[in-house]
Amino acid sequence: MKKITKDKVELSKIQWTGPTWNPWHGCTKVSAGCKFCYMFRDKERYGQNPTTVLKSKTMFNQPLKWQEPQLIFTCSWSDWFIKDADDWRTEAWKIIKDTPQHTYQILTKRPERILECLPDDWGDGYPNVWIGVSVESDAEKHRIETLSKVPARIRFISAEPLIGELNLEDYAEILSEYFHWIILGGESGNKTGKYLFRECKLEWFTKLIDISRKTNLKVFVKQLGTHLANTLDLKDRHGGNIEEWEESLQIREFPESIERYKVA
Ligand code: SF4
Repeated sequence: MKKITKDKVELSKIQWTGPTWNPWHGCTKVSAGCKFCYMFRDKERYGQNPTTVLKSKTMFNQPLKWQEPQLIFTCSWSDWFIKDADDWRTEAWKIIKDTPQHTYQILTKRPERILECLPDDWGDGYPNVWIGVSVESDAEKHRIETLSKVPARIRFISAEPLIGELNLEDYAEILSEYFHWIILGGESGNKTGKYLFRECKLEWFTKLIDISRKTNLKVFVKQLGTHLANTLDLKDRHGGNIEEWEESLQIREFPESIERYKVA
């Protein structure tokens, strides 16, 4: 069921955010985590080509219309730093700057492009922007190092879909010094067809929670994913109901107070 706030803003179903904002949509796959991308699934359902990146005619200015403060997942149907959007990004940065009442969560799989795509007045980072990297297994750990070199007020990691072991012990120093938050989640998907789920292990979650505690990262366990939901016989098919989890996993923290925002 859609959740709409008092001021008629539709919230995403993603538990760590409020509404989404997609100034452009469409993307190309860059790593294993993209394999069953939900944007590809949804666009194909609507008969659209997911690999064509288009500036949104209806949503580009959307945050300017939201008066109440919002915690916004930015570019949930693309990548903020994708090259195809280079001509539109300056205008989009200006929208972010002109709406200091909102906080923008920008999550990318292209951190190597961040420095060349920042606005001239970025300084130590706009105060209302969090920048994160998706790290779905050990193979993508290098993204953490790349993001550590980018000035930003809040840096975070999204380990979702967690599709392999992610050992961050050797990144402990970088995490302590430069990072603030980690999101953990298993993959959602079907048993058959084109959009499937992959294996996920509980021990991958516990190891990441342990290293996060040692390095002072706030932790948000979003969902256990379909594989663990099946294995543990959970009612929520994506393993997203926190009440069904063992107590040690029931952690949904944010890197700073989000009291002023409504989240899913
Ligand atoms: S970067 Fe994100 S939006 Fe783009 S294909 Fe990968 S998962 Fe999908």
